[in-house]
Amino acid sequence: MTRRIAIIGSGVSGSTSALIMAGAGNCVTLIEKDRNIAPLVRGFNFDSIRVEAGFHYAGELDEGGAFTRLLIHTGLWPRLKVKVLDPRGFDTVSGPGMEPFSFPTGFGELRRKLKERFPRDTKAVDAYLDGVEKVSSSFPYLNPRIGWRQAKELSPFGTFDEMSLTDFIRAHSDNDELLRLLSAHTALHGVDAKEVPFTAHAAIMGGYYRMAGNFEGGGRALANAIEEELHARGVELLTGATATGIRLTPGGEVSGVKLGDGRVVECDTVICSTHPAKMLALTDGAPFRPAYRKRLAALKDSQSALMVFAKSDKPEPSLDRSNHFILPPPPSDPKNVGGTGKIIYVTAARLKDGSGSLGGFVALTPASFAPYAKWSDTRRGNRPEEYETYKSEALRGLLSSLEKSYPDMIGKAGRVGGATPLTFSNYTGSETGALYGVMRRVGQVNPTPKTRVKGLYLTGQAVALPGIMGAMTGGFLTCGQILGHEKLLDELGKIF
Ligand SMILES: Cc1cc2nc3c(=O)[nH]c(=O)nc-3n(C[C@H](O)[C@H](O)[C@H](O)COP(=O)(O)OP(=O)(O)OC[C@H]3O[C@@H](n4cnc5c(N)ncnc54)[C@H](O)[C@@H]3O)c2cc1C
Repeated sequence: MTRRIAIIGSGVSGSTSALIMAGAGNCVTLIEKDRNIAPLVRGFNFDSIRVEAGFHYAGELDEGGAFTRLLIHTGLWPRLKVKVLDPRGFDTVSGPGMEPFSFPTGFGELRRKLKERFPRDTKAVDAYLDGVEKVSSSFPYLNPRIGWRQAKELSPFGTFDEMSLTDFIRAHSDNDELLRLLSAHTALHGVDAKEVPFTAHAAIMGGYYRMAGNFEGGGRALANAIEEELHARGVELLTGATATGIRLTPGGEVSGVKLGDGRVVECDTVICSTHPAKMLALTDGAPFRPAYRKRLAALKDSQSALMVFAKSDKPEPSLDRSNHFILPPPPSDPKNVGGTGKIIYVTAARLKDGSGSLGGFVALTPASFAPYAKWSDTRRGNRPEEYETYKSEALRGLLSSLEKSYPDMIGKAGRVGGATPLTFSNYTGSETGALYGVMRRVGQVNPTPKTRVKGLYLTGQAVALPGIMGAMTGGFLTCGQILGHEKLLDELGKIF
């Protein structure tokens, strides 16, 4: 049966869904309110550098990797060139009172290095890495060999009462430094270690521990590859088109998507990649149970951030092939009063000339939207002076923290640019400027692709995991729900 499918949102998850459904012979229209396809991962130019926002790096982009398999299935792989981060240390974590630790590629080497560093906690290291390896290799669509039924039983989908990362580590060790180190990567989930379910952390980190990399040309190369393949698969692209409603038949089935300019995209299936609560607003009058509405409306957003970026005449050379995480002092340290200090993630900015040369830096630290809420109805270029002053002070604070670790790089930085939770609110479309959409946290019932409305499905990082690979997995999960999981898993399993 050929379906007429309308997909709302052309981010990684919506585009993945479009590629799979068009590849399966369906008639697909992709609706994107931005003027570009996959706007979030494109990044932007600043002075002579390219600033990545939306994609810095991912895991399992090697031959035989889980992410690679998804990219092959969607036709994106031949259009991309992978850049492998340093296998001896793709991420380096440092902080006051601790020796820096570089995460090497591969579970074996990571296990060896962690045990060498924490000789009294070798059992805890084994428990942690065994758990991460098991969960990440049984997550649906990351390992197609494990059938759908078994993967569902082992995976964190729909679970709501499990252990947080902190509780998991604490159950095996009371070593604060081990906990701080293994919690550093929660910056990649947008959720604190005390809240993130161990299984969600494990499903994400397993990929990075196996291999970390990105693409030559960065997020823009990914967005361009997506756009080219959407054309190649005959997907109709409606950019600059905002979906304002999902039309239902009197019998309650999906029949079209209404656009802001009055047009209607006729269809029998809608895949919605917006925040799940926004899907509710698009389906006024749909027969959702009050408990379902309440649950979606109550989903908490992941963290937002402050970001600084600048060209530097002396960029830190190690950023060329690795990222840095700078931890705050431990909560017990008087310099970190009340444990309010925040981690800082530092990564490379490349020259925009396409040479791939290191040209500067991008640094992000978690930040709350609350202090910015009073300026929510202002737009970029038109913000009040009070906001600009507040922003400058916040960015200055972040820069001076950075300067302690990179005096040369910051000292040689040119004009500094920055983004606040308010900027991210406009950039990601999330009301609170969330970097990773909906938070995955202990005690939460997560949204699933299927809804009560016939022909209406959810996709996005909210139905799977945060991040690019999570969003792409979300696309596969949703399409598997429509086409049959066993069929899609079988196709993936035949790739390698
Ligand atoms: C600063 C930053 C850094 C990041 N770094 C990394 C990283 O290094 N590695 C990593 O894996 N992940 C990273 N991420 C996360 C990653 O970018 C996201 O997880 C992923 O892009 C989410 O994809 P998505 O399709 O679920 O959502 P989105 O990309 O948000 O897609 C939703 C789309 O829907 C469109 N839309 C919304 N409403 C409507 C409407 N009514 N009508 C039409 N269109 C609509 C939006 O414009 C958007 O394009 C980062 C995110 C940020 C913000």
